[in-house]
Amino acid sequence: MDGRRDTPEQAEFREYCRRWLRENRPPAPAFRLPEHAIEVMTEEQRTYLCAWQKKCYDAGLVGADYPKAYGGGGHQGFQRIASWEMSALGVPYMINVIGLGMAAPTILHHGTEEQKRRYLPPLLSGEEIWCQGFSEPGAGSDLAGVQTSAVRDGDNWIINGHKVWTSLAHFASWMILLARHSSADKYNGLTYFITPIAGAPGVTVRPLIKITGQTGFNEVLFEDAVIPDRLRVDEVGKGWQVAMTTLLHERGAAENAGSGGGQSVEDRLAALIALAKRMPRNGGTAWDDPVIRDRLMQIVVRVEGFRQVFRRARVGALTDHPMRIPLSSKLLISELNQDMAALALDIEGAFASLYLGDERAPDGAEWPLAYLNSYGITIAAGTSEIQRNILGERVLGLAKTK
Ligand SMILES: Cc1cc2nc3c(=O)[nH]c(=O)nc-3n(C[C@H](O)[C@H](O)[C@H](O)COP(=O)(O)OP(=O)(O)OC[C@H]3O[C@@H](n4cnc5c(N)ncnc54)[C@H](O)[C@@H]3O)c2cc1C
Repeated sequence: MDGRRDTPEQAEFREYCRRWLRENRPPAPAFRLPEHAIEVMTEEQRTYLCAWQKKCYDAGLVGADYPKAYGGGGHQGFQRIASWEMSALGVPYMINVIGLGMAAPTILHHGTEEQKRRYLPPLLSGEEIWCQGFSEPGAGSDLAGVQTSAVRDGDNWIINGHKVWTSLAHFASWMILLARHSSADKYNGLTYFITPIAGAPGVTVRPLIKITGQTGFNEVLFEDAVIPDRLRVDEVGKGWQVAMTTLLHERGAAENAGSGGGQSVEDRLAALIALAKRMPRNGGTAWDDPVIRDRLMQIVVRVEGFRQVFRRARVGALTDHPMRIPLSSKLLISELNQDMAALALDIEGAFASLYLGDERAPDGAEWPLAYLNSYGITIAAGTSEIQRNILGERVLGLAKTK
C-alpha cells in the first residue's frame, strides 16, 4: 500500500505515523518477544507490550476511526494507514489483539451506549486486556453447539461451563462470552455477554501447555459465576448474530481498531533467504543447493502473490466480492507461514533439533518454534477447512455443506 489513494488529510496522517514511529520505536527488550500476541506468556512481556500499546494509543495510532466519545480519534480511513505503517516498520505488535480485532467492533456494533463508553477507551489503550470465550471441548467449528449455560436470576445471570483454547485469558480483565440460555433452539438459544475474568468469583483460568512447551492459551471454568444483566450484549437470543459480527472481524473480513506491528511476511522471507545463505550444505551453503533454491523460489512467488492480492483489495473495482480477499488472506498467510517455517527446518537440517535456550540454535530457535506454532495458527479463528468452506459457499456461491 503506497498511499496513492490517500486523501490530503490521510497523506498527512501517513507522514505523521511514519515520523512518529521512527522517533518513538521502543528499544528491543532484553527478553524474547514471541511472534504473535496470543503467545505472550510472561509479566515482563505483558508490561513492555502494554506500555507500547498505550503510547501508540496516546499518539492516535490505535482506535483512530472510533468515535471520540468512545476514546477513539474520530477519523475515517485512518486506522488502515496507521496499522500498515506499524507493520511496514516492524515495530512491536499490539498485545490487546482480541480486544482490538474482535471485542471492540462487536461492542461498537451491538453494545449499549453505557457499554461503549465504559469498555472501549481502556480496551483501545491496552489498559484492559480482553479474551474470547467461544470454543468449548465440544464446540469449535460447530460454534452453535456451545453448552456453557447462562441462567437468568433477577437482574443477574448465573454462568456455568467450560471454555477452552482461550488465548490471553491469563492476562484478561474481560471476556466476550457466548453462552446458552435455552436448549430449545440451537441458534436462538444463545446469548452474548461481557464477562469479568481476572479475580472474578466462580471463574478459574488454567493455562494449557502447548506442543512448544509454552503456555499462551487456557481453559476457563465457570462455576456459578454471577454477571449482571447490564453486561449482556444485544438482546437475549441474539447471541448467534452477535457472534457472527465477531467472527467476521476475526476472520479478517472487516477493518479493526488497529492491531498492526510485528514482523511482515516480507521480513520473514528475507530472514529465510539469509538463513539459506548461512547454513552449511555439501561444502557450500543451502543457498547453493538447487532443490532448496527451487523451493525458495516457490515461496518468493507466493509471497509476491500475497502482496499483489493485498494491493488489489485496495482497489474496489477489482474486487468482485467484498469478503473474498480479506477472507482468503487469513487462509493464504497462515498456510504460507507454515510452509516457510517447514522450509526453514529443512534448510537448518540437524540444527533444527536445537531448541530455545540452546545458544547453538540458528536464529535463536525461532524457526522450530514458528513451525510448531504454525499449526495452531491455521486452526485459530476457524480452521483452513472451515475457511475454504466459507469461501466456497459465501463467496463462490457453491452448494452448502449442510
Ligand atoms: C492457537 C489457537 C488459539 C485459539 N484461541 C481461541 C480463543 O482465544 N478463543 C476461542 O474461543 N477459541 C480459540 N481457539 C479455538 C479455535 O477457534 C478452535 O480450535 C477452532 O474453531 C476449531 O475447533 P475445534 O478445535 O473444536 O475443532 P473441530 O471443530 O473438532 O474440527 C476438527 C477438524 O475437523 C474439521 N472440520 C470440522 N467441521 C468441518 C466441516 N464442516 N467441513 C470440513 N471440515 C470440518 C476441522 O477443520 C478440523 O480439521 C484457538 C485455537 C488455537 C489453535
